[in-house]
Amino acid sequence: MSLLKKGKLTFLQLLEASGASSWLSGTAWRRDRLLILCYHGVARFDEAEWDPLYLPAATFRRRMELVAEAGCTVLPLAEALERLHQHTLPERAVAITFDDGFLDFYLVALPVLESFGYPVTLYLTTYYVDYNRPVFDPMVGYLLWKGREKGVLDWPEVSAQPYTLDPPGCSAAARAIKRFALDRKLSGREKDELLARLAGQLGVDYEELCQRRMLHLVNPEEAADMGARGVDLELHTHRHREYRGRVRMLGELEDNRRRLATFSPREPKHFCYTGGMHLPQYPDYLKSYGLLSATTCESGLCEVSTNPYLLPRLVDTQALTDLEFRSWLAGTPHFLPTRPYYPAEGQLLEDPDPAA
Ligand SMILES: [Zn+2]
Repeated sequence: MSLLKKGKLTFLQLLEASGASSWLSGTAWRRDRLLILCYHGVARFDEAEWDPLYLPAATFRRRMELVAEAGCTVLPLAEALERLHQHTLPERAVAITFDDGFLDFYLVALPVLESFGYPVTLYLTTYYVDYNRPVFDPMVGYLLWKGREKGVLDWPEVSAQPYTLDPPGCSAAARAIKRFALDRKLSGREKDELLARLAGQLGVDYEELCQRRMLHLVNPEEAADMGARGVDLELHTHRHREYRGRVRMLGELEDNRRRLATFSPREPKHFCYTGGMHLPQYPDYLKSYGLLSATTCESGLCEVSTNPYLLPRLVDTQALTDLEFRSWLAGTPHFLPTRPYYPAEGQLLEDPDPAA
């Protein structure tokens, strides 16, 4: 643990032990702010050992208990944003969001949320709902991690250079494989075949992973069931990609909206940037498309003056301690420096036609 993190935890501990944190959580200052929580995945198998964005199921349940113990009110996102602007938020207002729509949300997280009676927004990307196979980008990373004991990936089809399968080598190999697929404009099926060949190179049983639906999104029936159960399905682009130009970017949103409309009668009005990637022109695009908000992965509390198309969220990961999580519910980290967020690579595609 870094010295800065140690110092920060000591300070938060002090604020909590002295009662300052609890005092702040009951003030008008906190009541005028909204904390939006952001989750990506809750492990069904060994995902939490691979990626800190995946929480073990017990950790996710404990976080939801901490929300209840802190006396927070969990509101649907749309209501929370409306009330933020009307200055009528309840004490310690929280909204809960999940990104992407992986199967683990449906099977593990949703039953936990329902048991607490918490409303939830799911930013659902839809391409892999229809093509219900492993999502390419995360599966590349997962396979490399799974096959790391092989030591080296020597795969001339994709790269002349062999990669050592330690964490930096796995990252470099993942970048090369994703670049290979992008440059050749591989279709979903071709990327799936590439994943199968990668698994073969690494001695990992790909079909067994597919049978368990590892890193699959929900399928159309499961998405419709979530809509029926009151999950707020919102926009996250169809192909989990963003473009600089308005036409292509709005095309992604429109493809996504059309698919969402088949799962839920509620018109989606909120968006989440893929991989936290946003450009200065996006708020204008989203507003012109009739959307009311967009969330980022930058941490912070939302205030009435926050740009509604650049809403910060607390990205909850395994790196966050319970103390830090409780402190965010109270609002204290607002007064501490936060680490900048670096968007995931490969989210932004250049427009094929610069005039688009
Ligand atoms: Zn995403």
